[in-house]
Amino acid sequence: ARLANQIAAGEVVERPASVVKELIENALDAGARAIDVHIEQGGLACLRVRDDGDGIAQDDLPLALARHATSKIHHVDDLEAVATLGFRGEALASIASVSRLTLTSSTDTTGLGWSVRTEGRDMSAVIEPARHPRGTSVEVRDLFFNTPARRKFMRTEATEFRHLEEVVRRLALVSPQVSFSLTHNARVLWQLKPATSEAEMLRRLSHICGPQFVAAAHPLDQEAAGARLHGWLGLPTFSRAQADLQYFFVNGRMVRDKVVSHAVRQAYADVLYHGRHPAFVLFLDIDPGTVDVNVHPTKHEVRFREHRLVHDLIYRGLHRALAEVRP
Ligand code: ADP
Ligand code: MG
Repeated sequence: ARLANQIAAGEVVERPASVVKELIENALDAGARAIDVHIEQGGLACLRVRDDGDGIAQDDLPLALARHATSKIHHVDDLEAVATLGFRGEALASIASVSRLTLTSSTDTTGLGWSVRTEGRDMSAVIEPARHPRGTSVEVRDLFFNTPARRKFMRTEATEFRHLEEVVRRLALVSPQVSFSLTHNARVLWQLKPATSEAEMLRRLSHICGPQFVAAAHPLDQEAAGARLHGWLGLPTFSRAQADLQYFFVNGRMVRDKVVSHAVRQAYADVLYHGRHPAFVLFLDIDPGTVDVNVHPTKHEVRFREHRLVHDLIYRGLHRALAEVRP
């Protein structure tokens, strides 16, 4: 099981940013309203995600770390088999297998909870009482301390932090009702309040995507064919390097997809201008039965059953919105 965890870890835990992604997603799954992310040295020394969600009961703490610690794989030869397995239920176990991890949680408001600590392959976790408000904290220290090959692949602290910040940015965009804070080396970089009104949403968007984007962004909200497409389109006055400001979420999940980018590019080209990278933050809410998102858990792939329909929906939606603002 330990070997399996370490192999799976290689797939799921690519770098500090992937750890933070898994931890924040767990926090969101637990119904958190507030998520605090603390980072030291790009996440390589320490990263901590704390939430105010449902918490984990004392008896379930070891399970959370060992869940699906599969016995299916006994040899490194089986590596290929691992790649085909889903990673559901394996994130915490994988992270624990390549770090010094402390999981602390409380399910009530007594201010008391329980804590369990692991050290890489040493998964013999001891549960101890700990002070903790309702919710969960996961602290990951010395990531890859026991996998030097992986450790060598890490870039500079600044690069790792940039990846990490991008993960927080995406998750903050899809969870406007949740407050987020991000601290790096004791400096508070982000403090996002929950957004419940349009004005608050714009303030939050400004924090996440920059004031220049918001100043040149046109809102869009349309329904067609049982789907809803909403968000903001960057107008040509938005002059910063735009290629990196392209966010498309399908049912709350960030995707990169040829059908999507083609439809977007086409709409921009037909209405506004040619040859530039459009900037956008868009959310498509669509019948989950028509889209397959489980192509790979760590990649941003998606497969639309009816891709022509989706292409049309996006193209028409953007065309109409952009036509409104055409100079
Ligand atoms: P998965 O999320 O796919 O179930 P994980 O390994 O990420 O697998 O987490 C294992 C389990 O630990 C979760 O199913 C959940 O029960 C529990 N858990 C992990 N993180 C949290 C959290 N922040 N709050 C509450 N429960 C959590
Ligand atoms: Mg998870």
